[in-house]
This record gives sequence, structure tokens and C-alpha cells, in this order.
Amino acid sequence: MKFDSVIIGGGVAGLSCAIRCAEAGLKTAVIAAGQSALHFSSGSIDVLSRLPDGQPVANPFSAFDELKSQSPEHPYSKLGEKATRDALDWYQAMMEKCGVYLTAQEDEANHLRVTPMGTFRSTWLSQQTVHQFPLKDVAKGLNSVALVTIDGFRDFQPKLSADNLAKLPQFKDVTITTAAVDLPDFETMQRNPCEFRSIDLSRVLRDETKLCAFAKSLIQHVGKADLVILPSIFGNGDGAATIKLLEGLTGFKICEIPTMPPSLLGIRLEEAMKSHFKALGGLILAGDEVKRGEFEDGELKRIYTKHHHDMPLVADNYLIASGSFFSRGMSAQRHAIEEPIFGLDMTDLPHRDHWYQPEFFAKQSHPFLKMGVTCNSQLQPSINNQSISNLYCAGALLAHYDPVFEGCGSGVAISTGYHVAEKMIKAQHQTTEHAQQERTIA
Ligand SMILES: Cc1cc2nc3c(=O)[nH]c(=O)nc-3n(C[C@H](O)[C@H](O)[C@H](O)COP(=O)(O)OP(=O)(O)OC[C@H]3O[C@@H](n4cnc5c(N)ncnc54)[C@H](O)[C@@H]3O)c2cc1C
Repeated sequence: MKFDSVIIGGGVAGLSCAIRCAEAGLKTAVIAAGQSALHFSSGSIDVLSRLPDGQPVANPFSAFDELKSQSPEHPYSKLGEKATRDALDWYQAMMEKCGVYLTAQEDEANHLRVTPMGTFRSTWLSQQTVHQFPLKDVAKGLNSVALVTIDGFRDFQPKLSADNLAKLPQFKDVTITTAAVDLPDFETMQRNPCEFRSIDLSRVLRDETKLCAFAKSLIQHVGKADLVILPSIFGNGDGAATIKLLEGLTGFKICEIPTMPPSLLGIRLEEAMKSHFKALGGLILAGDEVKRGEFEDGELKRIYTKHHHDMPLVADNYLIASGSFFSRGMSAQRHAIEEPIFGLDMTDLPHRDHWYQPEFFAKQSHPFLKMGVTCNSQLQPSINNQSISNLYCAGALLAHYDPVFEGCGSGVAISTGYHVAEKMIKAQHQTTEHAQQERTIA
């Protein structure tokens, strides 16, 4: 099977690259072994919330110079501010075409999103159904907030969130209430507690009669509130539309928050991207896994997968975006860390005692989170210090940044994925032009 570009990994980095390539007319395939980190994510796009030294960041792009001086090897430092901005602008516009509206604050500052624990996390782009709490005046415009769950749903505990919210000085004048609303069909669903997850609830709420009954019950339980916070229990594709309908039925302003996995807010992004890629003519080999590759003269020539172990996939250019430890893009033994497909060069490894901070909730980054594949300024990895000219790397597999501590996970994944796509498109155009010139001469 021959392609212009082959992408290893179906997370936000791989899919961003694949969609951009397919938009430019490149014959593109994605191999995705399993679920991506989006199934666990808030569905908001973090760009940069903290510098490596721990300083909080209010406006991500104005912190790029300082980031470069603190961390010259950071993926953003390799890309620069303009390329990162271009990638995020493209992503926002592309997702809008897919019906997923992601917005930032008008002044380009980060905003806060409320977590299921009733704490806040800084982020840059959020879906339209997520309330953007301003960084400076968090409770602005809010006199009363209701945190509501479905009676019997285990993956969101509003009382816990309410207790934490009430502790914040900014919320001292805000009335915080909680409620557990009944859901039609709950009795039948409760027979098997394993099936009573956000995704099961979303199937029930897709039925308009049941949504109306839920709306009625919501009004009865909540009474009056400036903001009603609900767990994300609304469908992947039509979730935002269902919430708009519910807002119309109740008159409430509703804010979704992510639940324990599966996180419908994140899955919504992944499904929109996958559908868009397929509509552009892209191929996804879902559930398949790249096992190895063959190299000749400093180039990756072909790769073999679990399901195609004797029929290689061949491409002009390849991207590896197989994620971090979490997605098995990297694996750790007691004293070693490796990238398991090609054995790419990794960051130097300190003694195991220095892989993590002594305390889990430490004030500094856990060093293992910055471990990963090292690349040159073109995002090309190497094997035994030899760069591979047609292989690129993007997303959580990259070294020298901490997506959790710095709050930059999806931002790095999107911008590096997009940046690699631009390189692949340019290379493809050069090859086509070269072939045309040769034909003309002949
Ligand atoms: C629990 C959690 C919550 C997070 N929440 C947020 C958030 O709210 N906002 C935010 O901005 N960032 C968040 N992040 C960070 C961010 O989601 C990640 O940095 C980003 O999604 C990484 O994307 P990726 O495409 O690089 O990797 P991943 O999403 O990990 O995708 C890697 C893909 O590669 C596939 N793969 C692995 N090996 C192979 C192989 N051999 N062959 C084929 N496929 C393979 C995997 O199955 C997977 O599909 C979160 C991260 C985690 C872990």
C-alpha cells in the first residue's frame, strides 16, 4: 500500500497532521492502535498556563519569548510564536467546519474551567458549552450556581465540588447549591452499574421525550440559578445541540464539565476530527498497530503493522505521534525508557531516583513527564544520532516539555502535528514539480 504520508497515532497530534495533509490533497493514512488521550481529556485546548519555572501565564503568546529563554528545546521554542498561532487558528477554523465551536477570550488571555473536583484549571480554548471563568474576576456575573448530577451517577459528585468551590474567597457571596435529578429509564439502567456511564446517559438523553422529562425535573430541583453545572452526559456528535435544546427548555445557562473517563467532551473532538479526515478521503486503520520499520540510506522505507505483517505500508513521509507512556508511545523498564517501534533516540536518562518528585502534588514538574524522543529543529528524530530525513515526530512523544505542569498538552500536539503536515505538503509539491520538470526534459 503506497501513500504520500502515513501517520502513526490517532490522537490530536496525528489527526491534526493527517487532516491538514488530506486538505492539501495528499493521499494519507492513519494507523491508530487504541484510544487516544482525548478520551480522558476535558476537551479544552491548553496552550500554555505555566512556565517551566512555575510562573503562571495569563496570556500564552506573550510568554513565548520567556519560554524560549527558560526552555530552548521546548517544542514551542522550535516552532516559534507565529507557527504556533497559525496552527491553532487553523485548528479552530477546521473544528468549526466540523460543528465544534472552540473559543478563547477576546483579549487572548487564558480562562479558567471548573473541574469535577470544584477546582479551576487554566486553559485557552473551550467548547461553547463550557463556561469560561475569567482569570481575574472568577465569579464575575454569578450570584447563584447549581451543581447537578443524575441520581445514582457515580462519575460526578456535586457535593464534593460545591464544598471546594465554597472555600474560594471569590465565591464567598455566591450561593452554591447541589441537586440530583431523576432520569427516565434509570431503573432499567441501574440493573447493571457498569453500564451507567456518561455514554449510556447520553443515549437516553438523545430521545427528545426523555430530554423534556429531564428538563422538567431539572427546573423542579434547581429553581433559580445563574449557572447550572452538569457533568458531560450529552452525545459525542450532537452534544452541543442537545445542550442548546435543554437551555431552551429550562431557561438555564448550562455549563458542561468533564466526568471520569470516558470523557464525552474529549471524545467529541476526536470523533469530529476522524469524520472530517474520512470525508476528505483519508484512511484510518483503527485497532491496528505499527510494529516495525525498515530503513535505507537514512530514510524510513516501509512499515509493518500487526494486521499487515507481510504487506508493508509505504510512504514518502511518515509521522510518529504515538503519544507518551499513557498511550504506549513510550515504555519504561526499571532503569530504561524506550520508543518501542523504531528505537528512536531519547532524552538522557537520570538515575531512577530522579525520575519523579518525592511528592505527587509537587510544586515542580515530575522529570519523567519531560522525557521523550529528541528531535532536531525540523522535528526529525534520530537513531544512534543519525537523523531520518522523511520521519517526523509530534505530540506527547516529544521530549522537553511537561503537558500537565505547563498546561500545554493539546496546544503542543496540534501545533507540532500541523507544522509537520506543512513540511510534508512542501516536500510533496517539490517532488511533483521535480517529476514534471523531468517529464518536460524527456
Ligand atoms: C488523562 C489526561 C488528560 C488530559 N487532559 C488534557 C486537557 O484537558 N487539555 C489539554 O490540552 N491536554 C490534556 N492532556 C494532554 C493532551 O491530551 C495530550 O498531550 C495530547 O492529547 C497528546 O496527543 P497525542 O496525539 O500526542 O497522543 P495521544 O492522544 O496519546 O495519542 C497517541 C495515539 O497513538 C496510538 N499508538 C500508540 N502506539 C501505536 C502504534 N505502535 N501503532 C499505532 N498507533 C499507536 C495510541 O493508541 C493513540 O491513539 C491530557 C492528558 C492526559 C493523559
